[in-house]
Amino acid sequence: AAREELARWTGPATTRDGVPVKLLANVADAKSAASAAEAPVEGVGLFRTELSFLNTKVEPTPEEQAEVYAGVLSPFGPGDPGGSGPHVVVRTLDAGSDKPIAYATKDHEENPALGVRGLRLAFDNPGLLDRQLDGIALAAEQTGVAPWVMAPMVATVAEAEDFASKVRARGLKPGVMIEIPSAAILAHQMLQVVDFLSIGTNDLTQYTMAADRMATDLTHLTDPWQPAVLHLIAITAEAGKRNGKPVGVCGEAAADPVLAPALVGMGITSLSMAAAAVRAVGAGLGKVTMDACEDAAEAALAASDPQAARAAVREVLGL
Ligand code: PEP
Ligand code: MG
Repeated sequence: AAREELARWTGPATTRDGVPVKLLANVADAKSAASAAEAPVEGVGLFRTELSFLNTKVEPTPEEQAEVYAGVLSPFGPGDPGGSGPHVVVRTLDAGSDKPIAYATKDHEENPALGVRGLRLAFDNPGLLDRQLDGIALAAEQTGVAPWVMAPMVATVAEAEDFASKVRARGLKPGVMIEIPSAAILAHQMLQVVDFLSIGTNDLTQYTMAADRMATDLTHLTDPWQPAVLHLIAITAEAGKRNGKPVGVCGEAAADPVLAPALVGMGITSLSMAAAAVRAVGAGLGKVTMDACEDAAEAALAASDPQAARAAVREVLGL
């Protein structure tokens, strides 16, 4: 019965009392974008562009890049010029650390997770970001879908400001990922210079807990239910509410049907996840009121460890 109920769920997602929550898909390429477009999502919340170039030796030209990006945009277009239609969030190159790219990543770093990765590469090699943004703008022109464009691994407001001016110069909407505690703590200041935030809970957890996300013996620490991580998410969501700007979650945490209502209760406006996870999250949100989501958020934030946080949320939501 539960399976049939899930199969019938078609979205768009709201809480039981009708508060909308945008459910979006994480995609890697044209193929996963096409299958996401068949799922009950309102667009793409995270297109990981670096995954298209993991085996590419020489940097593709903006025109060659545009072809790759257009393949992801076109299943969602042409977009609604009013901005209420489906949207696609393209993330600029998150090369380095666990995703080395031959033409972008620095060799021989002592500690690549804390090294020149993500947006930091752009300060090392500014042409790289300029050419990628040209490719994205070209794909927008070709498909009629104007994506939102966000940067990974942003640590300071100055970085966000530099990135935003480059994106705005191409007529597109800029945002940044919140993956580093410094960025979460300054979320309000970040929103003075960008139009949206997207929390990458995989890296935010890694950097908050100082625990390698790939380390299989540290999974008790690399858990987004860690209350310290939840507090940083809450600070970020609060900044979104205060500024009237969207704040999403696009890490693995967004796909957890127990955590999702608590995130919404904190003020998160969109959840982006593997397309396969969308129905369970959407159906779950439809069973709880916004008041219950807010109570769940409060209970999770009051807990002192992940088990207690999860148990408290289950209790509040009757799950
Ligand atoms: C994250 O860090 O949570 C995220 C969504 O980015 P990635 O998993 O690609 O590092
Ligand atoms: Mg990340």
